[in-house]
Amino acid sequence: MNKFASKIGWRFDNTYSKLPGTMLSKLAPIPVKAPKVVILNHSLSKDLALDFSNTNDEDLASIFSGNLLPEGSETIAQAYAGHQFGHFTMLGDGRAIIIGEHLSKNNQRFDIQFKGSGKTPFSRNGDGRAALGPMLREYIISEAMHALNILTTRSLAVVKTGESVMRETPLIGAILTRVAKSHIRVGTFQYAVISENKNNLKALFDYTINRHYPDLKNLKNSPIKLLNLVIEKQIKLVVDWMRVGFIHGVMNTDNMAISGETIDYGPCAFMDNYDPETVFSSIDLQGRYAFFNQPGIAKWNLARFAESLVPLIDENKDKAIEMATECINNFANIYQKYWFQMMRKKLGLAGEEIKDEGLIVELLSWMHKNKADYTNTFCFLMNEKIQDDKIYSNKDFINWKHQWQERLKLHNNSPEKSLDIMRLANPIVIPRNHKVEEALDAANQNDLNPMLKLLEILEKPYEKQKAINNYQTPAPLTNKKYQTFCGT
Ligand code: AMP
Ligand code: MG
Repeated sequence: MNKFASKIGWRFDNTYSKLPGTMLSKLAPIPVKAPKVVILNHSLSKDLALDFSNTNDEDLASIFSGNLLPEGSETIAQAYAGHQFGHFTMLGDGRAIIIGEHLSKNNQRFDIQFKGSGKTPFSRNGDGRAALGPMLREYIISEAMHALNILTTRSLAVVKTGESVMRETPLIGAILTRVAKSHIRVGTFQYAVISENKNNLKALFDYTINRHYPDLKNLKNSPIKLLNLVIEKQIKLVVDWMRVGFIHGVMNTDNMAISGETIDYGPCAFMDNYDPETVFSSIDLQGRYAFFNQPGIAKWNLARFAESLVPLIDENKDKAIEMATECINNFANIYQKYWFQMMRKKLGLAGEEIKDEGLIVELLSWMHKNKADYTNTFCFLMNEKIQDDKIYSNKDFINWKHQWQERLKLHNNSPEKSLDIMRLANPIVIPRNHKVEEALDAANQNDLNPMLKLLEILEKPYEKQKAINNYQTPAPLTNKKYQTFCGT
């Protein structure tokens, strides 16, 4: 028990820890030497019905480092497995601890997790720790994704630990407090299905339905229904990523959440000039997780989820496989449907026309060929002129624009209506790679101002803001390709 719990408003109700013992390990975060708060997300605190305004800096640092656990918390590391770059591995929370499930307004349930909290039984060869740069990166990108209306885990706080972590060089140690609808992953099901305890899979399934999809409870063939729901959720999520040019970078099955939230921000980044083969991650040498492979990989991961559910679908294995395969085979049609809907919105088109596909593909090909900026091209079409517009005087583009303008007139559309649709689909500012790096470099030198300014701008990505041109243009093209690294 401690003195802060009541005034802050934590309401823990921990359910995951009641699953069979082999699904998790109960252990506390390892205390750190001299924690200091770097950033605390006040707006998210409010959403969670938490109030830190009467807690002093020292106590906040103790709380968000795990040195002082709130009353009602029950700390666990989750077991899971996963296909990493196609290879199956036993994993688990190797550097994270869930301190509990907090009930916020309307009893909405959220996992509160510390990332970088020390070794666990799942750490393998890792030190269980995290560095400041990658934790702040997750903070920036996850909060930007939230503001873009894309389902995601959130970031509540980052503290420095006062300890250094050894990577290629010594780095500043840090802990991120992550907030998620849950941390149940495709890989959690993969773990349950191969674990020795045969009850694990059914227990995890019932738990997932109860927690996320209670409408499916007691329905006939609920495993198939869950599969279809998760397929739909993941498709919508990936379509949202494609809408804004987001590249997750490490879509392993352990990084795909059953809730449909974007999870595990590692080497992710946003694309500048449109190139479907864009890859930023230094370890993704084959381009497995390139921009345009994301839907295909989502399908592949969902097939692994489907396989895990087979024992629950039907006693007759062949029949179960057939039913699961049928669901997975629907992926392409559903994806196409949502992707076209999304692209029509980006272009402000009303209704549907057979020629839309050609119009969309032609624009993408033009952008690719001419290295046009993905975000800013749609801004240009919304009369938001950001960059030197010479590129848009190109003859092919003008021809395309003419066709588009003719198409816009159909289905009782009006320029105002189109613009309204486009404004909701096309951000006018995204976390540009050079701006993210600039903010992280400064933060590593103890100057948080660039990050705070960046976060403020990214909070309103669809709104016109004064004097942000600097944040809207990509870095000048240099020979050096932008690369991101896993935050390990
Ligand atoms: P991630 O790349 O963050 O999705 O992590 C993949 C797996 O590696 C997960 O099981 C992590 O818990 C584990 N992991 C990553 N970094 C570390 C670390 N520094 N120490 C221990 N385990 C780690
Ligand atoms: Mg992961």
